[in-house]
Amino acid sequence: MPKILSVNAGSSSLKFKLYAMPAETVIMSGLVDRIGHSDAVFTYDYQGTHYKKAQAVQNHTEAVQLVTDALLDSGAVRDKQEIVGIGHRVAHGGREYTQTTKITPVVQQKIADLATISPLHNPVNLLGIEAFEKLLPSASEVAVFDTSFHSTIPPKAYMYALPFEYYAKYGIRRYGFHGQSHQYIYSEVNRRYDQDFSRKIISCHLGNGASVCAIRDGKSVNTSMGFTPLAGLVMGTRSGDVDPNVLPFIAEKENFSADDIRQLLNHQSGLLGISGVSNDVRDVLQAEADGNDRAKLALQIYVHQIQSYIAAYTADLGGLQTLVFTAGVGEHSAPIRERVCAAFGYLGVKIDAEANRDNDLDISAADSRVKVLVIPTNEELVIARETEKVLDS
Ligand code: ADP
Repeated sequence: MPKILSVNAGSSSLKFKLYAMPAETVIMSGLVDRIGHSDAVFTYDYQGTHYKKAQAVQNHTEAVQLVTDALLDSGAVRDKQEIVGIGHRVAHGGREYTQTTKITPVVQQKIADLATISPLHNPVNLLGIEAFEKLLPSASEVAVFDTSFHSTIPPKAYMYALPFEYYAKYGIRRYGFHGQSHQYIYSEVNRRYDQDFSRKIISCHLGNGASVCAIRDGKSVNTSMGFTPLAGLVMGTRSGDVDPNVLPFIAEKENFSADDIRQLLNHQSGLLGISGVSNDVRDVLQAEADGNDRAKLALQIYVHQIQSYIAAYTADLGGLQTLVFTAGVGEHSAPIRERVCAAFGYLGVKIDAEANRDNDLDISAADSRVKVLVIPTNEELVIARETEKVLDS
């Protein structure tokens, strides 16, 4: 069976999963964490055993060397040639890449050029691509863009009401992210349920980063992240939507540069910024239970913003059949799901308290008019599927 490696390279981490396709069997999965540090950690799971090694890892090439050595030494692959494809998660495909694309030098250059609008992610995604190119040259490399799934969003939802020239000159528009996750959610709803539940879906990806996506007939028609992954929902440390005039106001008052403002919006805002406690929903819930008023307020704003998007997207979809929660918070936090759903009695959303507490797949009450699901996301699998599709075409 052909083997496909799914790769997600971040600034200091590299996650991977090796699949046997088309069976979609996971052969090995792992993570090199704290790349660039002397106390980096390499963990992987193979044949039911968990391995962990701590050692210095200077850069992404060293991280990829560790991964390829582990794949060969463990026997997961006997020969490098067995890995026919490597699918890379790439954050931003801009206007150019509306589909998964085989990586060529031209594509690599375009991914590099798109760093002007995705400075935090595209350059590190490229580091992963370059390292695998060096160490597994026989495998075809494929870019699976976060933005591609959202290429079906219509102009009325992706344009900002700025002077048109900025769209023309710089491609300033909504792109959306977490595409692999929302695509997986659609594929799971479609696989498990009939058309009465799969034609109008709202997918809530609530992790460190968070976004909501409206999916009609398998296609994204709107999503809460925008030109960058900062827009939309309140996140761990990201602000989500704010009145744009607040930014020059703060910059003038505090004598902040554009970089200071970016730092404030991306790293000091969100749940952390409001609560002053943590970016982690678990900590903020605990603080709320301990009587911390700012933690309580942070959670109210967090939930309210999710509700606002669900309500708006119900209009985009002309109704709602299935509401899905996924990612760290969506998959594990019963109180957040319960609070979000509490606003939608008017739509006929009703959840079963026990099923919700147990993080069951289907948490809707028997008489709910909308199906409410908890589906663990699987972005790596979408990357492997997309890679296989491109290699077969
Ligand atoms: P990422 O967005 O980095 O991929 P995840 O989807 O894994 O992250 O989500 C991580 C977040 O999920 C954590 O920061 C934490 O806030 C949240 N989380 C994980 N488990 C729980 C839980 N049981 N209750 C509430 N939040 C949780």
